[in-house]
Amino acid sequence: MKIHEYQAKEVLRQYGVPTPRGVACFSVDEAVAAAQSLGGSVWVVKAQIHAGGRGKGGGVKVAKSLEAVREHAQAILGMQLITHQTSPQGQAVRRLLVEEGAAIAREFYLGMVVDRSKQRVALIASSEGGMEIEEVAAHSPEKIKTEWIDPVAGLTDVQADATSRAIGLPEAALAEARVVLQGLYRAFVEKDAMLAEINPLILTADNHVLALDAKFNFDSNALYRHPEIVALRDLDEEDPAEIEASKFDLSYIQLDGDIGCLVNGAGLAMATMDIIKLYGGNPANFLDVGGGATTEKVTEAFKLMLRNPKLKAILVNIFGGIMKCDVIAQGVVAAAREVQLTVPLVVRLEGTNVELGKQLLADSGLPIISAGNMADAAEKVVAAARG
Ligand code: ADP
Ligand code: MG
Repeated sequence: MKIHEYQAKEVLRQYGVPTPRGVACFSVDEAVAAAQSLGGSVWVVKAQIHAGGRGKGGGVKVAKSLEAVREHAQAILGMQLITHQTSPQGQAVRRLLVEEGAAIAREFYLGMVVDRSKQRVALIASSEGGMEIEEVAAHSPEKIKTEWIDPVAGLTDVQADATSRAIGLPEAALAEARVVLQGLYRAFVEKDAMLAEINPLILTADNHVLALDAKFNFDSNALYRHPEIVALRDLDEEDPAEIEASKFDLSYIQLDGDIGCLVNGAGLAMATMDIIKLYGGNPANFLDVGGGATTEKVTEAFKLMLRNPKLKAILVNIFGGIMKCDVIAQGVVAAAREVQLTVPLVVRLEGTNVELGKQLLADSGLPIISAGNMADAAEKVVAAARG
């Protein structure tokens, strides 16, 4: 689960990481009032969306007067902000962060991710702040310093200082940088993050360090123990189909193809998408209905897929294990009737009571295309999608 920059900075502040002072705003008047209350003479008006690269897309503007704050707030609020991390249509801006302008001497990159192969949290740092780390990794990997953190010892002073020195922070800033790095690590672990980024971390002319941007991605499986993080969720930033799916305990990810997939089990769902690709088609979604695929769940799953205007055909691929094939077939028939299916439906069933299941589908009178195995199913659904 992602949160906005202003929320991420609030989390960081709780762990002692210094950030510029700022106020989250929902209207132009609020933005002007925020600048007034912050004082000073330079402010930055920042679009709050769950995507990076806002600066390049015109979503981060420096203002040197209250009138300029007003103009920028007017321009940014409500805009469709397009960045390399948004969809091509961009993301609507509904919130702003107005913060004090910082005097930047240098920009650095700091990131943390879980490195599964090392079974450690990796601290990634670079002298190339403000840039995308992927680009730095591709063109100048020698400018990236990685430290793996021992879960028992935590991020030690020695590691923190080595990282700071490696990216070129001056000796006078090491103590403050230690507070930032160790605070970021504690926040990462205590809040069950999967990814955290401060890009840029800045050095000011008088050797202070500040987090100028902040990003967190939290592990959804651990949200049950973080109601304070769940409270930060912004549904406007999430795909409506995926929100709907989560209500019915369905794992659904919208993709950009045209063949809907309804599968039980994440592994089988992945294999189904692979085989659709192999036969020249493109999956419209990933959808795992789980082990207990009830009629209600299957119906909701159909509705979700049918919301997609690109959808040209559906492939149901079910392995009846605990759930028997005849029960699933009943669910598919009931769901197809309720949603008044408008696209071709290919069904492949395997497992317990498979013959009975196939009979139920055949007797339903619905134009269901039955498939014998996965290859057959993929071939048929790709052909059906092509019309
Ligand atoms: P994004 O990564 O989405 O483009 P950032 O928050 O990193 O957004 O802002 C982009 C750039 O804008 C930063 O690299 C920095 O140069 C500048 N910037 C952001 N916030 C401030 C601030 N409070 N004071 C001065 N400059 C800022
Ligand atoms: Mg940034």
